[in-house]
Amino acid sequence: MSRPDLNPVALAPGVVAFHQPPGGWFVSNAGLVVGADAALQVDTFATEPLNRRLNTAIDAYLEPGTPRTVALTHAHGDHAHGAGALAARGATILATPPAAGEVLSGPHTYDMLFSCDWGAIDPPPDVTPVTEPRTVDLGGTSAVVVPVPGPAHTHGDLVVWHEESGTLFTGDLLFLGVTPLAISGSVAGWLEALDWLETFGATTYVPGHGPVTAAAENPVAPVREYFEWLREAVASSADFAAIEHAARERWPDWPAGERHRVNARVAHAQSHGGQLDFPAGVKDLLTSAAAHGEPMTETGLIRLDL
Ligand SMILES: [Zn+2]
Repeated sequence: MSRPDLNPVALAPGVVAFHQPPGGWFVSNAGLVVGADAALQVDTFATEPLNRRLNTAIDAYLEPGTPRTVALTHAHGDHAHGAGALAARGATILATPPAAGEVLSGPHTYDMLFSCDWGAIDPPPDVTPVTEPRTVDLGGTSAVVVPVPGPAHTHGDLVVWHEESGTLFTGDLLFLGVTPLAISGSVAGWLEALDWLETFGATTYVPGHGPVTAAAENPVAPVREYFEWLREAVASSADFAAIEHAARERWPDWPAGERHRVNARVAHAQSHGGQLDFPAGVKDLLTSAAAHGEPMTETGLIRLDL
């Protein structure tokens, strides 16, 4: 059967990552664990057309009528906007309580930043909250949905652990080869969460953005290095544009460099005991993207409306 161009990566029997090469915004990864009786999907994509393609790709791995649970690693639209359509097909949707609340009050499309033909992305009628590690029995194998202990990429992240294959679906705790985004979370908390991630002893990491990476390649290290660098940079400076400039020089190959400036603002606010000025952070993104002449995405799905 021909499959859409979502780069399915077979990690083990019944364990698949759907990888979109990282470019700009809303270009994310998803995952699937299939057992004898049921399947667990990790995350959805951003738009109705993308989610249709993802569903077609996933259906190719499933017997018709296979019960499906969908674990949302967090509430951002590039991971959660397909939840409503899957719920309409009978899927059970799991998320942490903060993420569940955000998904149910959506969809959130941040029209001040993005202009896009999202298609039908209505939220599901309900989301099952996950407050502690929850084992999902799939028949012959199982996966564990594990809430992240504190704020990190957002205030309601979770990961999915398939111990049998050593696969850890990290959601956006890992951005690999692409600039992370901290506007919804905590820099200090994210650093703690990276240490926590390594306690699973995974052999394979499926990040929220970027390529599937073996533990031997130490994919956690560059994300840790970035946030430690950022924390140090804001200790003595609130010149976020200058910090962005230095970050772009240090990580020249990372797409979405406009995130450095707002990340610096987040790190500065948190390390100085303040609150993030969210409108100022949004302005950081717009100003930086405009200054560098970069579209907010390379996919053509989203365009920046200035
Ligand atoms: Zn995210």
